[in-house]
Amino acid sequence: MTDLYVLDHFKYCPKCGSQNLSRPKEIVVVCGDCDFTLYFNPTSSAATFIEDDAGKLLVIKRAREPSKGKFGLPGGFIDPGETAEQCAIREAKEEVNLDLQKIEYLGSWPNEYVHKSVMYPVLDTYFVGHVDSFKEMNGDPSEVTTIEYVDPGTVPAEQWAFPSLKKAVRKYLETRSR
Ligand SMILES: [Zn+2]
Repeated sequence: MTDLYVLDHFKYCPKCGSQNLSRPKEIVVVCGDCDFTLYFNPTSSAATFIEDDAGKLLVIKRAREPSKGKFGLPGGFIDPGETAEQCAIREAKEEVNLDLQKIEYLGSWPNEYVHKSVMYPVLDTYFVGHVDSFKEMNGDPSEVTTIEYVDPGTVPAEQWAFPSLKKAVRKYLETRSR
């Protein structure tokens, strides 16, 4: 993972060009000449567990790396100024054209997301959501190969796209069986 860690690639200060850089902590790079300081903290995402009327879980087969071909949930990265709830609702609309009516927080789990040779530490937040109708459902082909309904308890663990999602599925199944 080290070669994917973006701060390891800083050789020059992006502000003044100096090579006098230091790493007082793993997540920060500081320029000794102009005091430019950059923190690389986790970014955040939101995704939603959506059930159909029969209690099956909606999953999307990912069209893109990372984890292309594996199961994910409608979700994505939180925009600046957006709440996790707003992001979950926006992503469900963009990715599968569903209007979430009601969402409840399930929990959050850390993740590592690799995109074009950069690893982003991510805090993934998960919600459970309900929709009134699946009639207009339609997967965005740039993100989704197919939309499937599964019994999440029978999906092999390695089929879930991310370790954080595996943990979220476990909590979701616990919550549902109560
Ligand atoms: Zn500098």
